[in-house]
Amino acid sequence: MTRIRDQFSGKSNFQTRFIDIIHNPAAAWVILCVSLSLTVVAYFLSVSFVQQRRSDQFYFRSLEIEIAIKERLDIYEQVLWGGVAFLSQTEKPTRKRWKNYVEQLNLINQWPGIQGIGFSIPVLPADKESHVTAIRAEGFPEYDIKPTGTRELYSAIIWLEPFDWRNQRAFGYDMWSNDIRQKAMRRARDQGVAATSGMILLVQETEKDIQKGFLIYTPLYDQPARTLSSPEDRRAHFVGWVYAPFRMGDLMKGILGSEDTSIEFEIYDGEQMTYENLLYSSSGRSHPESSQTPVLNRTETITRQGHPWTLYFKTPDDFTFKSDYNQPRFVVIAGTLIDLLLFYVVYSLYFVNRKAENIARAMTRELELTKQGLEETVKTRTGDLLQARDDLIRQNKVLLHTRELAEAANKAKSEFLSVMSHEIRTPLNAILGMTELLDETPLTTVQQEYASSIMRSGETLLELVNHVLDLSRIEVNRMELEIIPFDLHELIRKHETMLRLSSQKKNLELIYHLAPGVPASLRGDPARLRQILTNLVGNAIKFTEQGSVTLQIEQVQQTESPPGEVLLRFSVQDTGIGIPDHRLSSIFDSFTQVDSSTTRKYGGSGLGLTICKKLVELMGGQIHVESKEGKGSRFYFEIPLSIAPPDNSKKIEKPVATPQLEPRAETKPLRILLAEDSFDNQLIIKKLLQKLQTSVVLAEDGKQALEHFQKEDFDLVLMDMQMPVMDGYTATRLIRQWEQEHHRTPIRIIALTALSFKEQLEKTTEAGCDGYLIKPFTQKQFEQKILESQRTPEAV
Ligand code: ADP
Repeated sequence: MTRIRDQFSGKSNFQTRFIDIIHNPAAAWVILCVSLSLTVVAYFLSVSFVQQRRSDQFYFRSLEIEIAIKERLDIYEQVLWGGVAFLSQTEKPTRKRWKNYVEQLNLINQWPGIQGIGFSIPVLPADKESHVTAIRAEGFPEYDIKPTGTRELYSAIIWLEPFDWRNQRAFGYDMWSNDIRQKAMRRARDQGVAATSGMILLVQETEKDIQKGFLIYTPLYDQPARTLSSPEDRRAHFVGWVYAPFRMGDLMKGILGSEDTSIEFEIYDGEQMTYENLLYSSSGRSHPESSQTPVLNRTETITRQGHPWTLYFKTPDDFTFKSDYNQPRFVVIAGTLIDLLLFYVVYSLYFVNRKAENIARAMTRELELTKQGLEETVKTRTGDLLQARDDLIRQNKVLLHTRELAEAANKAKSEFLSVMSHEIRTPLNAILGMTELLDETPLTTVQQEYASSIMRSGETLLELVNHVLDLSRIEVNRMELEIIPFDLHELIRKHETMLRLSSQKKNLELIYHLAPGVPASLRGDPARLRQILTNLVGNAIKFTEQGSVTLQIEQVQQTESPPGEVLLRFSVQDTGIGIPDHRLSSIFDSFTQVDSSTTRKYGGSGLGLTICKKLVELMGGQIHVESKEGKGSRFYFEIPLSIAPPDNSKKIEKPVATPQLEPRAETKPLRILLAEDSFDNQLIIKKLLQKLQTSVVLAEDGKQALEHFQKEDFDLVLMDMQMPVMDGYTATRLIRQWEQEHHRTPIRIIALTALSFKEQLEKTTEAGCDGYLIKPFTQKQFEQKILESQRTPEAV
C-alpha cells in the first residue's frame, strides 16, 4: 500500500522511511521527551545568560563609580594647585582677594562635594602673638589659634572660603596639632606634592549629621617648587598649605548625584576593610559586617594624592537574580507549549495517516472491482465489435460486388447506347441524306409528299435518339457541362432567328424580351442553354394554335449573391392548350405526355422536359411550370451564371460564315479521299461532294484509305471512324505518322462519326483529326464543313 502510494507520489526511499517513522505514535512520545529536555536545557542556558548579564551590569556600574571618584579627586587636586598658583602670583594676597578667587571658581555649583578652599600657614611659637594680633586687627577680635596650649609648631587656618558658619568653626584651627592631619601636611610640605590625609572628623562637624571626612593639602613655597629639590629646601621656602576639607557623605552625593539602589558600596581608609577604617557606606550603615553574603561583590584599592582607599562594591541584601528570570520563565512556558503542540501534530498525523490509508485501501478495492467490471465489459464489447466488424466487411464486400455489378451494368448500358446510336444514326444519315437528295430530283406531287413524310419521320427518329442519348448520359453521370465564355445577347438573337420560321408557319407572334441590365458576357455552357430554350420555346410553339409565345430573360435581384455572379430567370409563356392541374406535378417525369393522343397529334417523345429539368439542375438551378388548361402555360427556370470579362466573350462568338456554294470553275477541283464502309453513306457523300464539284477517291476501310493517301495527292480526307479492317482512328494516326516521316504538310482530316459523346469526339482530335461531322448531318451542315476546310483550314 505504502509502496503504491510512494510510487505514485514519486518519493525516494529515504523520504518514505522518514514518513513511516513520523507516522508512528511512539515517535510522538519520543519527540515530546526530546523537545521537553531541550526546553529544560534552554531554560538553564537562559538563566545563565541572565546571570552573566546581571554580573556584567554590576561590574560596569562599580567601575563607573570607581572612575567617577578617582576623576573627582584629581579635579579637586587640580583646583588646589590653582589656588597655589593664584597665591604665588598675587603680589599681596589678602583675605578679600582669596574670597573673590574662590567665589569665581564657583566650586559649590560646579563640583559639589567640596567643603571649601582654605589657606593655612605655619606659625612659630615666637610669632604666635603677633599673628593673633594681626588677624584680630582684621576685624576678628575673638580670633585665636585652637586648640590652646603650647606646642613646638603651630599652624593656623587663616582663610577658608566660603566663610560660612560651618567653616567659621575651623577659623584659626591648628591642623598641625592633629597627628593624622599633620602627617599629610608634612608629606605635602616636604615632598612638594598634593597629599590626602587619613580619615578624620572635621572641626566643622556639629552634633548633627556627623560625617567622616578627610583633607587634601597642596604646598605653597616662596619660590617655584621645581627649584626646590630637597625636603630641607622646601621647608626653608615653605609659605603655607592651600587645602580643602571634605565631608564624605556630601562628597559622594556630589559625585554620584541621585541614589542608585542597584549597587551598594563602602569606602575604607587604607587597605584594611575594618569597622574603624569605614570612611563611607552608601547604605548609611555604620558597620561593614552584613548579615548576608552579597550575591555579587567587588573590591578595589585606589590611591590618590599618595593615600590608599579600599572600595568595596556589593549587591544590596535583597538582591536576587530571580527578578530577572522572566526571560527563562518565558522560555519554559513557550517551549513547553510548542513541545505539546508538536506532540499533538505528530500524534494526530498518525491517526490522519491511518484514516487516509483506510480510504486509499477502500478506493483501491473499488478501483479493482471497477477495473474487473470494465475488463469484462471491454471483452464483451470487443467481441461484439469484432462481430460487427466482420458483418461490416461482409456487407462491404456485398456492396462492392453490387457496385461492381452496377458499374458493369452502367458500362454495358453506355456501350449499348453508343452502339445503338451508331447503328441508328448511320442508316438515319442515309435515310435523311437520300430523302434530301430525292427531294431535289423532279418528283410528282404524291412522290414529294412521300419524301416529306420520310423526312419528318427521320427527323422525329433522330430527335428521339438524341433525347435517349442525352437522358442516358445524365443518368450514368456522363453529362458534363462546359464552362466557357459566351455572349448571351448573341445567343438569344440567333435563337430567335432559328425559331422564327416555325412560329411564322403557325402564324404565331414570337416575342423575345431581354430585360435591361442583363449582362451579355457570361461564362457557362451556351450549347446546353440553347438546347433547353429550344425545347421550351419549341414546345410552346408546338402546343399553341393561336396567340403568342414569349421568351423573357431577366436578372433576379438577390440579397446575397456571390461576387461576379448573376442569377438569371428565363421564362417561356404561351397562349396554347395549357396543362391540366393533375398532370402538372408529373410533367417533368420521363416519357410523360398529357395524353396519349398528343404523340399522334403533335409528335414528341415525352423526354424533352425531363432533359431540361436535369440540365437546369446540373447548372445549379430549378425549373417550374404554371399552367391553366386552355389558357396557356409558363415554363421558367433560374440559373446562376458567372460574369466574364467582355473581351473574352467577343472572341468566342465569331460570326458564322454563311456557306458559299458558288462553283469554282476557275480553280482546280478539290481532291477528296473518302473513307466510308457504308454503301448508302458512300452514295450520299459522293453525291454531296459532286455537287460541290470536287473529285472523290473512295476507300472501303482505313487500310485502303492509308494506301491511297500514300500513293496520291489529296486536299482533304473524310474519315469514317467506325470501319471494318482498320478503323478511322488508327488510319488517321498512321497518316499523321507517315506525314511526319516523309516531311509532308499535314492534310485536313474531317472525322465522320455517329458517336456524339464528348469523350468520343475528343478521341477523334487525339487521333489527329482537324474536325468532325456527326451523323446524321444535313446537306447544309456538310457543305459548310467542306467549305470551312477549304477556305480557312485553321477555323475547322
Ligand atoms: P414532348 O417531346 O412529348 O413534347 P416534353 O417532355 O417536351 O415531350 O413534353 C411533355 C409533355 O408536356 C408534352 O407531350 C405535352 O403534353 C406537355 N407540354 C409540354 N410543353 C407544353 C406546353 N407549352 N403547353 C402544353 N403542354 C405542354
